[in-house]
Amino acid sequence: MVSVALPPALADWREAPRVRARNASGVADGGRYVLCWLQQALRADDNPVIDAAIRLGNALALPVLVYHGVREDYPYASDRLHHFILGAGRDLAAGCRARGLTCVHHIDRAGHREKGLVHRLAADAAALVVEDQPTFVARWQVDRVADRAAVAVYAVNAACLVPPAVIGDGISGRSGFLRRHEPARGDWVDADVEKPMVAPYAGDLPFAPDRLDTIDLDTVVAGLAIDHSLPVSAAFPAGRMAAEERLARLVRDVLPGYAAARNDATRREGASGLSPYLHFGVLGPREVMRAVGDSDAGAKHRTKFADELLGWREWFHYQARALAAPERYDRVAAWARTTLADHAGDPRPDLESLSAMARGETRDESWNACQRQFLRFGWMHNNLRMYWAKRIIAMTPDPETAWATACYLNDRLSLDGRDPATYGNIAAMFGGSPGDRERPVYGRVATRGDGSTRHRDGGDAWLARAASRPVPAIDVPADVPRDRYLMS
Ligand SMILES: Cc1cc2nc3c(=O)[nH]c(=O)nc-3n(C[C@H](O)[C@H](O)[C@H](O)COP(=O)(O)OP(=O)(O)OC[C@H]3O[C@@H](n4cnc5c(N)ncnc54)[C@H](O)[C@@H]3O)c2cc1C
Repeated sequence: MVSVALPPALADWREAPRVRARNASGVADGGRYVLCWLQQALRADDNPVIDAAIRLGNALALPVLVYHGVREDYPYASDRLHHFILGAGRDLAAGCRARGLTCVHHIDRAGHREKGLVHRLAADAAALVVEDQPTFVARWQVDRVADRAAVAVYAVNAACLVPPAVIGDGISGRSGFLRRHEPARGDWVDADVEKPMVAPYAGDLPFAPDRLDTIDLDTVVAGLAIDHSLPVSAAFPAGRMAAEERLARLVRDVLPGYAAARNDATRREGASGLSPYLHFGVLGPREVMRAVGDSDAGAKHRTKFADELLGWREWFHYQARALAAPERYDRVAAWARTTLADHAGDPRPDLESLSAMARGETRDESWNACQRQFLRFGWMHNNLRMYWAKRIIAMTPDPETAWATACYLNDRLSLDGRDPATYGNIAAMFGGSPGDRERPVYGRVATRGDGSTRHRDGGDAWLARAASRPVPAIDVPADVPRDRYLMS
């Protein structure tokens, strides 16, 4: 990571700890705009990436151009993900217009190819302001652009309430992280929203943008070379309005009983269902915490929620930021990889094919109930996710295949997948604290049963129903994709 001073407009900002220079290039003379390139922070308001771009634009007397593009070739591109992303993008554009900003989109597709568009847009920019994301495409693409751009690239953390830089480097345990994170939270709940001063960018562009508010997104998505076997999730509608409705539902129906109901997968109102909207930045953690802070829910419920949204989610963001490849098996605790390797040759009576697993058609009813939430909704309840991940260790031929399978299913099917919480939680299921005795297949890695759901009132019936839900017949590859998750 380069150590370059930020320009005063960013260095003097209250939110400066969110920003880091990603290359050694300076702000270019003669740029026509400040380019704000969004990938995953898809909201117009209280978006620190946009706010940083506005501050820089105002200091340089240049307008801001917000750009968001979607390609067909990112891993696991599907109707489900494209629809969710483009619905968020449509509302992002409307919100930007309301703030006096120009926001343009490109959907890359046959007949509408725009090779190297970010680089071409950057060529006319004084500087680039991008997201600081620790996983998946948003990380890989920023790394590439920062290496090649001739202008300054500033990366801004929009995913966390407390910017990871505030915590400082080198903390290896969650309790140490919480000791610094908890006292810092209050300062970050109040936001500075930057008001645009410079007129919206109205100059030339090197491409013809897609107007997401006028094109039929479903028709466009249907014509793309992406995975059409994974349909849109009816349970998680795309866009800002759906996200706001979920947030209102959290405050009204979920939060008043959260501490007790959150672990009960059979309860409709037990959990918030906010994770897809948080993953794609349609909602930011600050507005969620403000809504929680303003609610009448009891302190134990608000505290429990903050522990999940801030104590766990932001811990995994912090962890991922320090890892070269948070999605790789070598992040799992060394003792756990050793004990799992010691048992790799054990008989595996619970082995299942990738196809049976992916389609939720294994011999394990409870596991199928979990997997069918992913297939049908693009989301799974937290309590089920723990059982689901642990069982994959027994259902696959060796620990590496287990890791690749868990990451692949989660990343492909879940709207909130490909996230620091994906790999951090799966790593915790493959490691965590060592169990008290050595077991076949798992060694010292703790196992987990389905009792936390099955033993509830009506738990058996709920699992049986959930395991037989109709689900889409997705295409399944012959082998699980491994390179992304295993190669060093
Ligand atoms: C094996 C496994 C895989 C997981 N994969 C993902 C994933 O791909 N993406 C993802 O966002 N979460 C993941 N989680 C964490 C958690 O299960 C989901 O965030 C949660 O179930 C989402 O539902 P919700 O929004 O209703 O959560 P709520 O219970 O309402 O929690 C509120 C918010 O807190 C955060 N949160 C809650 N639990 C956790 C947790 N354990 N770790 C980190 N953040 C948490 C989420 O942002 C969530 O939206 C995983 C957990 C496990 C055990």
